[in-house]
Formats: sequence, C-alpha cells, structure tokens
Amino acid sequence: MDNVLGKILAARDQRAALRGEISTSGQASLSLNLNIPAYPKSDEKIHSCFEQVLIELKRHLLSHRILIDSSKEYCATDEAGDFYVVPLHDNKVSIKQIKQATEKFEESHILGRLLDVDITNKEGEPVSSGKAKLCYFCNEKPALVCMREQNHSYTDIRQKINVDIDEYLSQIKKDKICKELAANALKSLLHEVALSPKPGLVDRFSNGSHDDMDFSTFVDSASVLSVYFKEIAEYGFSFTKNDLKDALPELRRIGLLMEEDMFRETHGINTHKGAIFLLGFSLFVSAYLISKNNFTYQAFVELIKDLNGNLVERELGRKLYNQDQTHGEVCFEKYGNKGRGIRGEIQAGLPCVFQHAIPVLESHLQKEKQINDKILHKSLTHALLALIANNNDSNILFRKGIKVLEELKQKAQTTFVHFTDDKFECLYNDLIDYCEKNHISPGGSADLLAVSYFIFAVHKNHSNPHV
Ligand SMILES: [Zn+2]
Repeated sequence: MDNVLGKILAARDQRAALRGEISTSGQASLSLNLNIPAYPKSDEKIHSCFEQVLIELKRHLLSHRILIDSSKEYCATDEAGDFYVVPLHDNKVSIKQIKQATEKFEESHILGRLLDVDITNKEGEPVSSGKAKLCYFCNEKPALVCMREQNHSYTDIRQKINVDIDEYLSQIKKDKICKELAANALKSLLHEVALSPKPGLVDRFSNGSHDDMDFSTFVDSASVLSVYFKEIAEYGFSFTKNDLKDALPELRRIGLLMEEDMFRETHGINTHKGAIFLLGFSLFVSAYLISKNNFTYQAFVELIKDLNGNLVERELGRKLYNQDQTHGEVCFEKYGNKGRGIRGEIQAGLPCVFQHAIPVLESHLQKEKQINDKILHKSLTHALLALIANNNDSNILFRKGIKVLEELKQKAQTTFVHFTDDKFECLYNDLIDYCEKNHISPGGSADLLAVSYFIFAVHKNHSNPHV
C-alpha cells in the first residue's frame, strides 16, 4: 500500500510541476480531475465518464468565451487518476470570473461535487472562491470535515460514485441515441416524399393521383410530426415495465396528438396517418432494444408482435366507438385477412418490410459508407416496387377493389424483376401512367417504404454481429 501511496503522491507532484511550468511561461491554467477516494483512482468506466465531463467542460468554457490554449493541453491517466491541464489564453474576463464560471459548471453538473476544476493564476497560485464545498456523499457537512473525520467508508463512497456515474453515462447515451433515432425518423419521411418519380404518389415534381396535396403539404406535415420523434424514443429507452403492452396508452396518446397536429397543419388532409402509426411503434421498439444493447431485426419483429398482439381482431373486429365503419373495418369485413391493412402488417411483424423492402435496401446500401442521392434514389425506387408488388394496401382495396389491387401488384412485380435491365424505364413509366390514369395511390406502400428505410438505418448503426 505504501508503494501505491508513493505512486499517487509522485503523480500529484508531477501535476503540480506541470502547473508550475505553465505559470513560469507566464500563463494561467485550468485543470480537471475527479475526486475518487481509495484505489485505483480510475478504471474504464471512470475514464469514459472523465472524457465526457471534459467535453462538456470545454463546451462550457467556449460558451462563456473563456479561451484555452488547446495546442498545449495535457491529458493523462496516472496513479492519481484521470487528469487534464491546459494553459489559459489572455482572456477578456478576469481570472476571478473564470473561477466563478467553472464553479457554476461544477454546481450545475449531475456529478457536481465529484468534479474538481482548478484554476491556477499566472503567479502559480491556486485561485479560490473561498466557498467550502459540501461533502459528495452526505451533502451536509463541508467535504474537508467529512474527509478529516472519516465520516463515510471508502466502500460506501465508491458505491455511490459507481451508481452516479452509471446514471450519468446512461443519460448521455440516452440523449445521443434518441437524437439519432428522431433524426432518422424525419430523414425517412423526407427521403420517401422526395423520391421522384413515383407511381401515383406525391413527389418532388408531381402530385401523382392526388389533387388535394402536394410536395409542400408533405414537408409541412413531416415537420410538425418531427417534434414528437425524440419524445417517443425517450419513452422507449427508459421503459422498464415487463409487459410492453403497458406502453400502448402512452403511445396512442402521442399518436393522437401527432394526428391532431398533422390535420391542423395540412387543413384536414391525411398525409402521414399510416406513417405515424408505423414510425411511432418503430421508434419506441428501436429505442427500447438499443437501451438493452439488443437491436437485431429478429428482436425488433418479436417486440412489434408482442406489443400489438391480436391488434386486427381487437380493433377491426369490433367497434371502438359508435361511429360509422372506417375504411379498415369495411375492408376487413369484406376481404378478411387480405383486407387487414396496416394493422395486419404490424400484427404479423411487418413481413412486407422485412421480407421484401429491407433485403432490397441492404443489397444496394449495406456496403456504402457514404450514401449519396443517386444510390439512395436507386435503392428506394427498387424497394418501393418490392413493397407495391407485395402489399395488400387496404386503401386501394377500399377505393378500387381487389381486381385493381392485384393488377397493380402484378405490374409492380414485373417492373421489379426488370429493375436492372433495359426494359425497366419503359415498364416504370407505364406503371406511373397506369396509376395516374386510374387514380391509384399506393400510399400504404409509401408509408412502409419510410419505415423500412428507418429500420434499415437504425440497424446499420446498431446491429452487433457478435450478439
Ligand atoms: Zn459527508
């Protein structure tokens, strides 16, 4: 133990020497370390915590216009733990104000009293605010008193540190993942609507078979929906109940809010009702699985099935309210399983997405490091055809009947098969003409395309081949 103590003291001497060198060269300095009692002073977890805190500290300094000489920064993990020191440039703010700003950082940080940001002036003296810090463990007595009186055991303090660091790192992970998922959800809606040309659907240059909506209606609608994406992801990331179905009322509540906002924004036009339903569940399930480091296509499908149970029978087989029958209910009554629509697709674990669209997206995009517009256009067009060829779109069933639906699926299948040969362009243009002439809009497949791209993108970032 003496040996360890000696090493720790030697490391601290070296830190003092570094600060001394900086003041000798006429600069003030700032340093960061964590107050970790006992030994070892650092491990893998403490180190990643230190790295995160340092990123935040630098951002805090910059936001207060406190400039550091980062070309001379020094960062190391030694026997005394993780340590960072950097000379301060000549700042417009006084050294006292710098001290106050760093104290504000310590006080407002979730790890608070565990952090030590020290300021040394040009003369090599520590700058103190004169405030006594409270003890990290009990938050009652001054830290120095508890240390002198040995009020808390090292084991207890280390255990609290461990719990606090876990919470801090998990909060950072949650924020990062949920931002990424929310951005992916918006990307998937925007890439879907921007894909041009598309058969019967609204795209950049055509309103397809629609006369009540255009490209801007979709961009507006996607924008108001995007506000909710992070909230849904956060709900999934932090969801801890055993039965996933307990999440349904909250997911429905957010979904209803999104629908209200969509209809207000579009003046009553249904642009994204299906996408809200599909992306809502997908965001929730993705965040839930990533929080457990367990995102795979298979795990995703199983959870989507668990979450929805017998959705079709529950919601289409009997009336929820005493209203007129919805399109979905009419189709289910008339066509049975073939008329189960989007609810059927969800209940079955999104077979159109996983068996048809995602394999196509993977064949084009899996190996691409940088996805550009050209490759994205090609892969999304190909995947959309795969979806139209296989999806029993209940909107088409309701409006046009089974014969038209089957004819459309057959045309899409033929075009899909010829995707790579010289017949493609002619077949694709025929399909577009056919949809427009007959006022067919494969909107259900467009929704599925957006969600396929979302799941593919999440999988690309989070699948672990070793799991
Ligand atoms: Zn205490």
